[in-house]
Amino acid sequence: MSEIIVSKFGGSSLANSEQFKKVKNIILSNPNRKYIIPSAPGKRFDKDYKITDLLYLCHAHVTSGIPFDDVFNLIEERYTSIAFDLSINLDLAPYFKEIKNNISNGASSDYAASRGEFLNGIILAKYLDFNFIDSADIIVFDESGNYNVEKTQLAINRYIKPLKNAIIPGFYGANESGEIITFSRGGSDITGSIISAGVNAKTYENWTDVSGFLMADPRIVTNPKTIDVITYKELRELSYMGASVLHEEAIFPVREKGIPIRIKNTNIPSDNGTLIINDISTYSCDNNASITGIAGKKNFTLISIEKALMNSELGFCRKVLSILEIYDVSFETMPASIDSVAFLIDSNKLKNKTSKILDEIKRQCNPDSIDVFHNMAVLATVGRCLSYIPSAPSKIFNALSESNVNIKMIDHGSSELNILIGIKNEDFEKAMNAIYNKFVKKN
Ligand code: ASP
Repeated sequence: MSEIIVSKFGGSSLANSEQFKKVKNIILSNPNRKYIIPSAPGKRFDKDYKITDLLYLCHAHVTSGIPFDDVFNLIEERYTSIAFDLSINLDLAPYFKEIKNNISNGASSDYAASRGEFLNGIILAKYLDFNFIDSADIIVFDESGNYNVEKTQLAINRYIKPLKNAIIPGFYGANESGEIITFSRGGSDITGSIISAGVNAKTYENWTDVSGFLMADPRIVTNPKTIDVITYKELRELSYMGASVLHEEAIFPVREKGIPIRIKNTNIPSDNGTLIINDISTYSCDNNASITGIAGKKNFTLISIEKALMNSELGFCRKVLSILEIYDVSFETMPASIDSVAFLIDSNKLKNKTSKILDEIKRQCNPDSIDVFHNMAVLATVGRCLSYIPSAPSKIFNALSESNVNIKMIDHGSSELNILIGIKNEDFEKAMNAIYNKFVKKN
């Protein structure tokens, strides 16, 4: 079995020389950490800038015909001071010159943005005395800009696997004409995942500035616990609801191969972090009603439609759905009972279409009543065991009733992972705390 660890370090983990030193210690403390994926330098403090943002800004200046020397100087200064503080014997000037020239001469915004990771990779490779492999030679895109798995795998087999170590910059690759293409923002996570799958790693480590996923939003719940183990599916549910640490698309390459992801904190490497796995068979549900996490979003509208004998009326829901489709409005969830159905819709998507949609539903479906609830929030309580533990839903409802939170919508749906609750926006924080306390603190 492979012992290889692929370690991706995010922007805050490589924002300055102090962070580089931590990263070096982490990498050298385990010889299995063979392949390293750096991001570009991120923020050093709250109001700081990210190098990637500055590179996009340089490109935007050129497009508008405005000189970009000042912005480029900031980029040069950041890298120069990192290399200087680390006493690295590396002349960055030729790299700066080439990149600046290319941007001035109309290189693409993907090219400009990718140089953040490229330069950080060059510096890190020198600092660690590791091989540097340009991702433009590894991560292959087709001419329409789609990532090509097979060709990338061939390149990994040929250029990476024979090496005892390598620094492979995150975020970008190239098409077969050699043009640089980037993933979407935060895409170094995806590179790390692709390389992990490509070398069949034992673990994909994702080093960042938090010790894993928290069970709830720390801006709402004080000191929420870290999630020890989470499945890919649960992570999808929590990410969709607003919890974000990892790029969503980073899950797929490793998930297919069953490679676990471990989220780790560069600033507190001794913390266990969160392990993301596919197979939950070893985590049984027979203990107690534990949950994995709670997440949620505000600003939804609930359209609730009632009609006697709706269950036997052919095509009722189809008509409502086609009205939403015509108005280009998607819905989040659709809880239903025999004579009623409700649609939960992101209020931003509805904008000023609500009254037209309601008129159309009345005209085509002739319902007994339609109620519209604005300013709704949705809370998702996620856990792999929710449907096996009879007490789980009642714990949620007790928590909410004890806190005087009125529930407008419940959707346990077909998913065993997720219980969705619709409440008023103003009750959102109170409800999240109530559920968290019920499951975690007063277990
Ligand atoms: N540097 C890129 C960004 O800021 C990619 C990454 O950090 O993952 O989006």
